[in-house]
Amino acid sequence: MDSIVLKSFGKINLGLDVVRRRPDGYHEVRMIMQTVGLCDTLVMKKTAGKAVTMRCDLSFLPTDRKNLVYQAVELMKEKYHISSGITVDLKKRIPVAAGMAGGSSNCAAAIKGMNELFGLNLSKEEMCEIGVLLGADVPYCIWGGTALAEGIGEKLTRIPPIPDCWILIAKPGISVSTAFAYKNLKLDQLERHPDIDGMIRDLEEQNLDGICSKLENVLETVTIPKHPIIRELKEHLLEHGAEGALMSGSGPTVFGIYKEKRTARKALESLRSIQDVKQAYVVEPV
Ligand code: ATP
Repeated sequence: MDSIVLKSFGKINLGLDVVRRRPDGYHEVRMIMQTVGLCDTLVMKKTAGKAVTMRCDLSFLPTDRKNLVYQAVELMKEKYHISSGITVDLKKRIPVAAGMAGGSSNCAAAIKGMNELFGLNLSKEEMCEIGVLLGADVPYCIWGGTALAEGIGEKLTRIPPIPDCWILIAKPGISVSTAFAYKNLKLDQLERHPDIDGMIRDLEEQNLDGICSKLENVLETVTIPKHPIIRELKEHLLEHGAEGALMSGSGPTVFGIYKEKRTARKALESLRSIQDVKQAYVVEPV
């Protein structure tokens, strides 16, 4: 095999709780992760020579060692003594730096791609061990689907998928860095925590109303006061038929959950009136 095309899916968080801040500065989390049908595409090819080269259709993204895809390819080349050159062509649709783990997902896809291209026969566990060296969310992106992520995000437990629904994803034109959100979280001042265990029960019972009533993300206590557009967007989605709405990850992407595709599409249309929304899609859970 000389080339491979990979889909790299984004995720949303149905619940995001921070349990404690570790002495090393990392945060222990409990997150319910759900893959959604919004994806980037990677085309990976073997080339003559030894170099790793990368292209991306978004000119502002790095295509050198700063890109997680590049890092994954280099790491695997070294670990498995691969001498061949490799080019990666990345087409982005997942909003960047937006709480949808786009970079981690691309990294996971590159690890899977290297495994296939060079017939490494790595197990999922082995690929996760490589992934966690590059980012706490990468092992989840290798798994995909619905999972509880604990530890710093790398301890994974499979849970049943969200029942059939439509998800409207809306990314406002502001940037929130993950580091900013976690650094400014006042953990000891939180008045409430998401009911992650209750959400898991609702997923086991396939109770969409229960799930929608428990959507909660502690990082909203940081991002909403700074960027009121996040609250406004959530309210807009709820006023336009969403069963529930939440900010994903460290934001600023907001999603709404809909029972009917028609309602979700109407809500998508209604976002045209909000100038601050830069990207919006209706997708299904994957
Ligand atoms: P998370 O939800 O894991 O916090 P995110 O969705 O907030 O992730 P990303 O889209 O992964 O954020 O991008 C964060 C930063 O990572 C970007 O500013 C970008 O410079 C860098 N980056 C490195 N590789 C990639 C990649 N392949 N795609 C997107 N961003 C990348």
